Amino acid sequence: MAFALNDKIKTLTPYDPICGEYPIRLDANESYLVFPDEIRAEMGQALAQAALNRYPDPYAERVCALFASFYGISPKLVTAGDGSDELISILMNAFLQKGDKVLTLAPDFSMYRFYTSIVECPCITMQKNADFTIDPQQVIETAKREGVRMIVFSNPCNPTSVGLPAEGARKIIRGTDALVVLDEAYMDFWDQSLLEEVTQYDNLVILRTCSKAIGLAGIRLGFAVANETLTRVIRSVKSPYNVNSVSQALGCVAFSHPEQLRHNIERLIEARESLYALFQAISSEFPTKVKTVRPVTNFVWAKCERAGELFDALKRQGIIVRHMGEYLRVTAGRNHENEKVAGAVRAFYTEKG
Ligand SMILES: *Cc1c(COP(=O)(O)O)cnc(C)c1O
Repeated sequence: MAFALNDKIKTLTPYDPICGEYPIRLDANESYLVFPDEIRAEMGQALAQAALNRYPDPYAERVCALFASFYGISPKLVTAGDGSDELISILMNAFLQKGDKVLTLAPDFSMYRFYTSIVECPCITMQKNADFTIDPQQVIETAKREGVRMIVFSNPCNPTSVGLPAEGARKIIRGTDALVVLDEAYMDFWDQSLLEEVTQYDNLVILRTCSKAIGLAGIRLGFAVANETLTRVIRSVKSPYNVNSVSQALGCVAFSHPEQLRHNIERLIEARESLYALFQAISSEFPTKVKTVRPVTNFVWAKCERAGELFDALKRQGIIVRHMGEYLRVTAGRNHENEKVAGAVRAFYTEKG
């Protein structure tokens, strides 16, 4: 007898993040900020008080309520997940049946396509405009022509750092029968969120995460926001204790300090602006070699001549960024980190022409 792997998983390989010791990590769009000592002490106390012998609150009610109050929405619309990655998987499991089509855009976050393959749903990919903007009418028409059941995209977009204004997102949602999963992982850095109007639609789920602007990638905490009907489905399909007590407790402390969170977000936006200015300077010096687009997230997306070689050169200097084809995606970090990466890029093109 022999056990054979099924077709959908046969060729999969485990996710392969960049490992090793690099002094400057600008590859994963995390926040470089750590919370001040008083808040860290509060987190320590919250951990000490967590009843670790008991199962966590299955609905993570406290952290959902604090999240909802931070964003000015009703907690009835919020479901917590083990990172928004888990929520993407839950949404596909809940709202798709085998064979239902999903529309994704390109370039966009690669995990969407991955999860469609696990639920055995064909994934249709629509190219964005050459300047990485999204044409809402083209999305609507493609969705209709292909008869898709779900449209999923990030706004603002990872990896391009370009945003679709709220009016464009509304147009897509109103113009389709499909469920729209709007991944607002980076919307803390921009002001075009649809969170406050989520109840106006019967086909919208918004995803948010604590991994970027909130500065808690390590605790794996994300949120799905949708009207009460859709929320009931999401809560029914998720596994009962999907968010552990430690993440719930630490998330509660973070959202109990809205002023600190807003302050951190301001600092991350400033860091993004500095990094973008540094790249713009390089781009004016080497206009044929480096091109950037105006970012609205906490990272910069730059088309770089010989991007692979440049990536390797940075890595040899202990600087890790994300390499994607002809592009590098660079997370905004501390001032000296931004200056170091920009200096290394400039040196690469100065020395190698
Ligand atoms: C980082 C990121 C997420 C966050 O995923 P988590 O599982 O919450 O850490 C979701 N969507 C996009 C587009 C991202 O870049």
